[in-house]
Amino acid sequence: MPLLPWWKKNPQRLEWEYACLAHEGYKYEEISREEVNGTLEIRVEFPVDGKPLNLQVIFPPFFPEARFEIRCGDLDLSHHQNPFTKELCLLGRSTGLWDPAFSLASFLRDQMPKILIAGATEDTSLADPLEEHQAEPAAAFLPFLSESELLISESANTGDQASGFFRAKIAVGLLGEQISVNGIIRSLDGVTLWPPDVESALCAGMGCGQQIAGRWFKLSAVPTGLDASQFVLTIQTEHPEVAKIKAEYQFEFKHNRCELLAFEFPSEVEHRKLGTEWVLVLRFTPEYGSKRTRVTQYGFVRLERFGRTVISQRAPELKALAGKTVAVIGIGCVGAPTSIELARSGIGELRVLDPDIVEAGTVVRWPLGVAAIGSLKIRKVWQYVAQNFPFTRIKLFGSRIGTVAASGGLTLEQMTEFLNGVDLVLDAAAEVGVSRILSRVAGELRIPLVSIWSTNGGWGGAVVTYEPGKSGCYDCFLHYAWEGAIVLPPESKASTVQPAGCAEPTYLAANFDTGEISLAGVRSAVSILCRGIEAGYPELPLGVVVLKLREDDGRPIYPTWMRYDLPIHPKCERAH
Ligand SMILES: [Zn+2]
Repeated sequence: MPLLPWWKKNPQRLEWEYACLAHEGYKYEEISREEVNGTLEIRVEFPVDGKPLNLQVIFPPFFPEARFEIRCGDLDLSHHQNPFTKELCLLGRSTGLWDPAFSLASFLRDQMPKILIAGATEDTSLADPLEEHQAEPAAAFLPFLSESELLISESANTGDQASGFFRAKIAVGLLGEQISVNGIIRSLDGVTLWPPDVESALCAGMGCGQQIAGRWFKLSAVPTGLDASQFVLTIQTEHPEVAKIKAEYQFEFKHNRCELLAFEFPSEVEHRKLGTEWVLVLRFTPEYGSKRTRVTQYGFVRLERFGRTVISQRAPELKALAGKTVAVIGIGCVGAPTSIELARSGIGELRVLDPDIVEAGTVVRWPLGVAAIGSLKIRKVWQYVAQNFPFTRIKLFGSRIGTVAASGGLTLEQMTEFLNGVDLVLDAAAEVGVSRILSRVAGELRIPLVSIWSTNGGWGGAVVTYEPGKSGCYDCFLHYAWEGAIVLPPESKASTVQPAGCAEPTYLAANFDTGEISLAGVRSAVSILCRGIEAGYPELPLGVVVLKLREDDGRPIYPTWMRYDLPIHPKCERAH
């Protein structure tokens, strides 16, 4: 059944809007009703100093739950107006600021005077009480080519130079009829912008391999309200050399001569605070065809600053992770998402250990889908982390813990290398034998150990933190569990399955259940790694936390966590 336009569903609302406009003395006329779009447009005259401003008001399909848009071609404000669509920003962008009870008439009466003052002034004392405190970066309004973006390092600094050249690695493609371009700026005026490993990870992630050179120009102000060709034309007064086409900066794509031009310009990066932003313009000319079709075309391409600082602005409490190393043992359906989550959180170095390959049936749980089938688990995690989180180093260990070297076991030397300089060990092997070894070795090396596992059926799981000199050990944990002082998580009694051709029985569980455990494991690890760091991720009460997702009879419940302290057990004979 099709949805009705709002004015048909709620005709009284439209009548009320018109009555309010008349009551406030505004002249208005209805321009159109578009049933398919669900939009209704009216023109309202807003008097300023006796002269009317023509406002184009467009009511959206889901009015009044969503706000109307107001455009004004008669105005050209430096703030609070989109220079392209001429839409006025009468209210902050958050949808929470809109109240469906606002009438258009009262909204215009209350908001228009504010915008006319704040939008035209550079005086912050005047604008301050009238506007939302959010930055209006100049590039936010540019009409960019879709699926196109390059990255420039956050450390890029052009100093006092007004122009120069850059080198980039790009991937060019076609999106329907339109050219798309992606990649990174590698260097500015011969100064390399990225460490080699980060550059190669970025290029792998963005799939860019074509090396090109280009020119950059610094602008004293950003020409707004223009399409890319007018933009370049306007810039020619400040930088006449922009107009000159130089063959050494051109590259070929599908019989087009292409060139990327980079521009740095001042922009509001924080509310009413100036910094600089970058933008690229793609200039391309078809090589063949008639004179009429061989017209040079232009398109804006996004150029974003990128780096650890840009990332950590979104999660400042995790900043210190950049200097930390975590070793993860067991890259199965709990260990793999855990490793990826640590990389996403910005861990400096990840060491992953697992000898197994990804089996086909585990796509229901293992994070990377069919593309991973048949590969070593550690290799696929390495590839994914390298391509998506280029600031995390990742080292692979394809051996088993607990067997002799001749059977694929880790040698003593390899174990030393695996744990050397590690800040935390994360045991996701879900093997009693492995936990026992790791507990002993991490204890000897005085490294905190977080052990995580989920139970059969995905009925629950546990996160246990062992801290040498601070908490009990693995044997202590077992003592408490035997005594019943710690209640272990529930598990399904359904027998684990051994699919045909599978070397070992596999357990049953859904990823959305086991995922709770890997996230709690990461949270515990991050809490330990940020300990003592100012403004770092706050410390969690650690110990033993047991997750329950099912009642003993199998009825599902929302995640319920039970936490226990883990002091040294009086009967434990191990050194702590
Ligand atoms: Zn103990």
